[in-house]
Amino acid sequence: MSRRLTYLHRHQVDRLEMQNGAAVGVSGTTLAPDDAVQGAQTNRTSTGEFRVDADAVIVASGGIGGNFELIRKVWPTERLGPAPKNMLSGVPAHVDGRMIGIAEDAGGHVINRDRLWFYTEGVKNWDPIWPAHGIRILPGPSSMWFDARGNRFAPPAMPGFDTNGTFKAILDTGYDYSWFVLTQKVIKKEFALSGSEQNPDLRSAKWGEVIKQRILSGKSATGPVEAFKEHGADFVVADNLSDLVKEMNGLTDEALIEEAHLHRQIEARHYRGDKLIRTAKPHRFLDPNNGPLIAVRLNLITRKTLGGLKTNLDSQMLDATNTPIAGLYAAGEAAGFGGGGYHGYNSLEGTFLGGCIFSGRAAGRNAG
Ligand SMILES: Cc1cc2nc3c(=O)[nH]c(=O)nc-3n(C[C@H](O)[C@H](O)[C@H](O)COP(=O)(O)OP(=O)(O)OC[C@H]3O[C@@H](n4cnc5c(N)ncnc54)[C@H](O)[C@@H]3O)c2cc1C
Repeated sequence: MSRRLTYLHRHQVDRLEMQNGAAVGVSGTTLAPDDAVQGAQTNRTSTGEFRVDADAVIVASGGIGGNFELIRKVWPTERLGPAPKNMLSGVPAHVDGRMIGIAEDAGGHVINRDRLWFYTEGVKNWDPIWPAHGIRILPGPSSMWFDARGNRFAPPAMPGFDTNGTFKAILDTGYDYSWFVLTQKVIKKEFALSGSEQNPDLRSAKWGEVIKQRILSGKSATGPVEAFKEHGADFVVADNLSDLVKEMNGLTDEALIEEAHLHRQIEARHYRGDKLIRTAKPHRFLDPNNGPLIAVRLNLITRKTLGGLKTNLDSQMLDATNTPIAGLYAAGEAAGFGGGGYHGYNSLEGTFLGGCIFSGRAAGRNAG
């Protein structure tokens, strides 16, 4: 091993050390040891101070998705409507955006602050690791999606499609949640949960495990999905629509769902395209043989920060006049995945890590 990297765990950076307009190192607080599991919030008990001198400093501290206060400050009310009262956090507590402010104090310039890539399909983790821990459902197309009053959303507000459009459609209702209604057949075929801990079969890298969990499991969905069905605060399961609606109304402050209205819409679904593009074979939702029926209350959930510290193509941090700050670089989500936000307002799922790696590579090459 070349030993060219030294990790300083439990070292919290509080300042970028600047001299004559150039970065010359970082300083901060050493924190008490903590045996928390991966992703859990750790203590911030100070055990001392530290300073590291360097020719170059790269800020790669992540986004703001775990800091609701900061999110509310930059919330794009004009585009999406007022910020939701209730949100879940799709990221650990350390994604707090604090270091972005510290970089601004040193002269860095943040752009596209109001561009957030959050999701509408969040469920409370019944076994949380971090504060307000939400898990995102990666939905297939067969679940029927209703607003808080039980009205089906109009296209393009479809499961897993046009995230910003659906965010606005939900907030326009005056409520900050919506509902999926589905059957056991749909949950088995089409529900996946985001996050490595929710996919132990895939993480095991053993095809045998994947086949056991996803193909040889009879009527059941994967273990983690079934656990959510059983323990999740947002899941209700019932043998008939009448009981389902009672349970749905029991989960919310106001009893807004009307059985007859929901029944009409479920029975009215006859779209030929369904037969061609769905993963779960089209089936009658209200036929008990396809059940039980399931409803899932969907919460708004934070995740990625699309804006950030402005840089040039060498990942050099730029000040408000577009001038590179000597010795200072930014990479990854802190830099909006590169440059201060290369995604624009929307993004393509799965393309975030690429921006982290490439902006990190540019920073490393140029800072070296
Ligand atoms: C559940 C989940 C699923 C995701 N799925 C995908 C996916 O499928 N595809 C995809 O492309 N992206 C995905 N993402 C997004 C992607 O994982 C993140 O955007 C990416 O990890 C950000 O990397 P980063 O290195 O910029 O920041 P982070 O991974 O957030 O790392 C920042 C590090 O800096 C440390 N830090 C922060 N402040 C300080 C400080 N003051 N002092 C010292 N250290 C500090 C933090 O502790 C942390 O270790 C997912 C994210 C989550 C949470």
